[in-house]
Amino acid sequence: MDNKPKKIAVIGGGIAGLAAAHRLTELDPGCRIALFESDTRLGGVLSTIHEHGYQIEQSADNFITTVPYGLELCRRLGLSDELVQTNPKFRQTFVVHRGRLTKLPDGFLMMAPTRLWPLAVTPILSPWGKIRAALEYFIPPRGGNDDESMAGFVRRRLGREAFDRLVEPLVSAVYAADLEKLSVEATLSRFREMERQHGSLVRAMRREMVARRRRKKSKTASESGARYSMFVTLRDGLTRLVDVLAERLPPDTVRLNSTVETIEQRPDGGWTVSCTGSTQPQAFDAVILATPSHVSAQLLRPIDASLADDLARIEHSGTAIVSLAFARQQVGHPLDGMGAVVPAVENSPILACSFSSQKYTHRAPEDDHVLRVFVGGARAPQMAEMPDTQLLPIVLDELRKLLKIEGEPKFTSIAHWPRTMPQYYVGHKELVAGIESRVEQLSGLELAGNAYHGVGIPDCIHTGETAAERAVRGLEGRGRRAKDRG
Ligand SMILES: Cc1cc2nc3c(=O)[nH]c(=O)nc-3n(C[C@H](O)[C@H](O)[C@H](O)COP(=O)(O)OP(=O)(O)OC[C@H]3O[C@@H](n4cnc5c(N)ncnc54)[C@H](O)[C@@H]3O)c2cc1C
Repeated sequence: MDNKPKKIAVIGGGIAGLAAAHRLTELDPGCRIALFESDTRLGGVLSTIHEHGYQIEQSADNFITTVPYGLELCRRLGLSDELVQTNPKFRQTFVVHRGRLTKLPDGFLMMAPTRLWPLAVTPILSPWGKIRAALEYFIPPRGGNDDESMAGFVRRRLGREAFDRLVEPLVSAVYAADLEKLSVEATLSRFREMERQHGSLVRAMRREMVARRRRKKSKTASESGARYSMFVTLRDGLTRLVDVLAERLPPDTVRLNSTVETIEQRPDGGWTVSCTGSTQPQAFDAVILATPSHVSAQLLRPIDASLADDLARIEHSGTAIVSLAFARQQVGHPLDGMGAVVPAVENSPILACSFSSQKYTHRAPEDDHVLRVFVGGARAPQMAEMPDTQLLPIVLDELRKLLKIEGEPKFTSIAHWPRTMPQYYVGHKELVAGIESRVEQLSGLELAGNAYHGVGIPDCIHTGETAAERAVRGLEGRGRRAKDRG
């Protein structure tokens, strides 16, 4: 095994599978990789289209820079110069409040205020809602390490109104989840940690701000390195990342239109993979499953039914993205922000609307706007798969009210993403720890993808890269042991 090139199958050509295959080539350029993808294109949910001068992101439209793996991969691929920052002119976010767009209080970060005055004067909360949120400072922390739902945690700390009006819409726009079930530990554990360490989110945020100011002051001129906004994208769209990753793979690595139907472990520890369009099962030393966890569950059921049951327990919600272009003069609202999120209590058909070409100006000609509307999720699952002819008028009607839009859109594009957003319910971390310990028993098998350690692109990249690292390490260990025996 030591002398023969390693043969590794990566199943699933989304960002996690591509990152895994690419990392394999970095770690072992001689490795023979087969990347099986059931679709006719790579990228999974990532999809950028360019039409009529518009750049439309049909799902994810940027990635966070505070989780380093996206930026790091772009640097290794030579894409750093193509990264685009969010428009500094329009970094504010709106929340729909009683049918109107209202500015999110400055300094309100997902669920914690860094500044108290903007919260004190916001029209979004009633006087009692503000008093209740301010009492957060004095509410004793909950002891222990038990997981808790997002809704339970936020209501406990900031009160019902701050949850309903501020936190629920912000978190729903990211996770498309039922917040009564969403785990705080598996999604935004940083805030639970703040409670544990500082006793209060407000106190923790204030200390963090002071420390940040000190760090800023003490920074010397010699410190260098690019500084990015909290989110970035790529000038030619996120599929540029997909294309460049694919280009870096050895020829004949990618097998499109190849749905893997079964995988089997051989007695020698290797694996066979059978897929559509191929008569013979193919042999590999290791397999990285970068498929959605519900697909991985099906593939693993004949091998380990309990593992499959656990994987199947990770539910997925579906969403749809409706992109629309309008001439600037059609839109009455100044769109002076990155977008708007909509609380469930507003009973709106939409979860959020991103002012896509305000956020990143290269996405539309100067005289036009591109808007992206996010619908579906746990809040309105029926909308994720609603026929376009029904969905479009509903979305347009809502946008007309919210943004004072007149006339018909110049361009529309609707992308449906059924069963693509894993739901990290309370207990998710333990569930994943259990899944991973069972996977460890299956030598030469690794899991990657958005179902385990974060749904964002950088986290998915990280799961792919670490799966590749474990696969190579495992095979090297196996090779050494075989050599010792021989
Ligand atoms: C609407 C939407 C908006 C989002 N917005 C953002 C955002 O702005 N920023 C951000 O960071 N993240 C965002 N995300 C999340 C992020 O884009 C995804 O979590 C991530 O891209 C998932 O990557 P993945 O490789 O794990 O899975 P996928 O992209 O789902 O890839 C899995 C691949 O496996 C293939 N496959 C399935 N079964 C088989 C089989 N049997 N054989 C072979 N291949 C198979 C599928 O065809 C697919 O290509 C968004 C997600 C959605 C849906």
